[in-house]
Amino acid sequence: MTNNRTPLVAGNWKMNGSRSLVETFSHSLNAQSFEGLDVVVCPPDGYLSMFNNEHFSLGAQDVSHLDNGAHTGDMSTDMLKELGAKYVIVGHSERREDHNETNLLVAKKAAKAKQAGLIPIICVGESLSVREAGDVKSFVGEQIAALFAEMTSDTLNDAVIAYEPIWAIGTGKTATPEQAQEVHAFIRKTLTEHDEALAHRTRILYGGSVKPDNAKALFGQPDIDGGLIGGASLKTDDFMAICQAA
Ligand code: PGA
Repeated sequence: MTNNRTPLVAGNWKMNGSRSLVETFSHSLNAQSFEGLDVVVCPPDGYLSMFNNEHFSLGAQDVSHLDNGAHTGDMSTDMLKELGAKYVIVGHSERREDHNETNLLVAKKAAKAKQAGLIPIICVGESLSVREAGDVKSFVGEQIAALFAEMTSDTLNDAVIAYEPIWAIGTGKTATPEQAQEVHAFIRKTLTEHDEALAHRTRILYGGSVKPDNAKALFGQPDIDGGLIGGASLKTDDFMAICQAA
């Protein structure tokens, strides 16, 4: 099936990195040209402004749903933009788990990011127990439905969705291309029920132990438009090889 979606590969450094890794990535990624591919690096916020990112974009890993003010430890959309972010990950399963982020809060963050002109990368995905119980579609369906409680298909325009099965994150266990495609197709079908044009336009990334040797098969699926990469985004060679597969 042909589509006009530009593939996207985003690296999620999580709470990793250093000034020297910023320099290594700035140097290596700027030496490449990524035709027909959007490349995004999401380091911890403190490193954002240290990048020289001519050939790629920057993203943050989280954002507050509130305006600037008395919210200790939080970062606002305005601050992230000033630091150079164009994208922001919201609702990563590690934030949902470590910080009790609910579907509603994630939707508020995505809405706030869009309102400020940042592109949210909205993460969804089930745990192993949900998968084993055969509840993947109802679980992921609820996560997507929550977005429409806070946003419309107009405000969701350009937002990116990342399907990341929790059991595949950092475990070395990747969803097979068929397993991933099945959920991606389901997400696109769910979007279609709201707005067909939105469904056709929305980029849906796969995340969970993507490596250079499995990226091509995953990205070759009709509804997989790129990847959200954790561990392998910390090594320039691996990250570059994954970009090349997209
Ligand atoms: P992983 O992480 O590639 O290390 O599995 C993916 C993610 O959490 O975004």
